[in-house]
Amino acid sequence: MLWKLELRKKIKNRAGLEKFFPLHEEEKRWFGKTEAAVPDAGASKKTSAEKYPPPFPFQATPYFLSRAGQAMDDPLRRQCVPLEAELKCRPEELPDPLGELACMKVPRLVHRYRDRVLLLVTDECAVSCRYCFRRHYAGGGSGPIRGSELRGAASYLKAHPEVHELILSGGDPLTLDDCRLFALIDILREARPGLILRLSTRMPAVLPSRVTRHLARGLALRQPLWGVIHVNHPRELTEECGEALRRLASAGVPLVSQTVLLRGINDSEAVLEELFRGLLARRVKPYYLFQADLAGGTGHFRVPLRRGQHIMKALRSRLSALALPEYALDLPGGGKVPLTPSYETGGDTDSFFFENIEGKTYSYPKE
Ligand SMILES: *Cc1c(COP(=O)(O)O)cnc(C)c1O
Repeated sequence: MLWKLELRKKIKNRAGLEKFFPLHEEEKRWFGKTEAAVPDAGASKKTSAEKYPPPFPFQATPYFLSRAGQAMDDPLRRQCVPLEAELKCRPEELPDPLGELACMKVPRLVHRYRDRVLLLVTDECAVSCRYCFRRHYAGGGSGPIRGSELRGAASYLKAHPEVHELILSGGDPLTLDDCRLFALIDILREARPGLILRLSTRMPAVLPSRVTRHLARGLALRQPLWGVIHVNHPRELTEECGEALRRLASAGVPLVSQTVLLRGINDSEAVLEELFRGLLARRVKPYYLFQADLAGGTGHFRVPLRRGQHIMKALRSRLSALALPEYALDLPGGGKVPLTPSYETGGDTDSFFFENIEGKTYSYPKE
């Protein structure tokens, strides 16, 4: 399988990366400082705890790197090549910014909302996204879910009939091969036949060859199953990515997307408009635009929340409702809340007032 070879050939160090392009100073400094920290990492582990965050290792696929550009502000490059700024942690940043550990009911299973759970099926990814909120877990060495953990998750689901949806996440579930992935889904399905599945993946954007016809057909046979594609910039929608999405959609896997709002990468109306339109044209419904989480060392990626709302308001006048995702924030430890700006501007005793997209005010009775 081509994709397995490509996954094995992931670039994981500075020498490998420099075969793609020369590094800028700020990038070199990340490698310089983290490489220096590595040899004595074992010895200094305890004392360096307060120097949190520990460096989040670099890894990327040759596919993704070969599409990234030479410029310092290239949007693909900034998503995968670390900067020195990452080694700085702000006081408000947290090691587990979504508070997932507190909601982990059995190993790998996060149950926060009554009707849906998240299963971390592996810690492996094809690319380590530099803004990752699960950097405490991704690549942490837990590996693919073990048989005993899977059985534990299946019994939990059996004991909790109020759960109707299961999200396969990680890491990237598509780093597992088809055989393992299908077996995993079948075990969960056997425990709970009606379960609605979601499979969250970044593979169409970072390793599109992973989406083989065999995979697409196998997923389509395991309905109801939704594909959730993580994609942040229209440049990720390459010919190859388009083919991966076409395979999934044509096989019968309904697709939605999630995007993280990232400073200097996609915090612009024009870029997001092109992305959401491009997704819709490829049969992917834009689902969420996330405000970046308070993960350690990611401050340089965060866009002020009001600016995000301003962008959403502008997009509302440029895009159809089908092309527009929900702008949302995962509160530190508190779950998701929508941030999409409201059009309600106030009211009197009998009516609500609204501003339409042209900025004109209208009223509507309360009762
Ligand atoms: C995001 C998330 C979900 C899914 O939430 P939706 O709003 O339905 O997409 C479920 N569980 C956890 C723990 C989550 O973080």
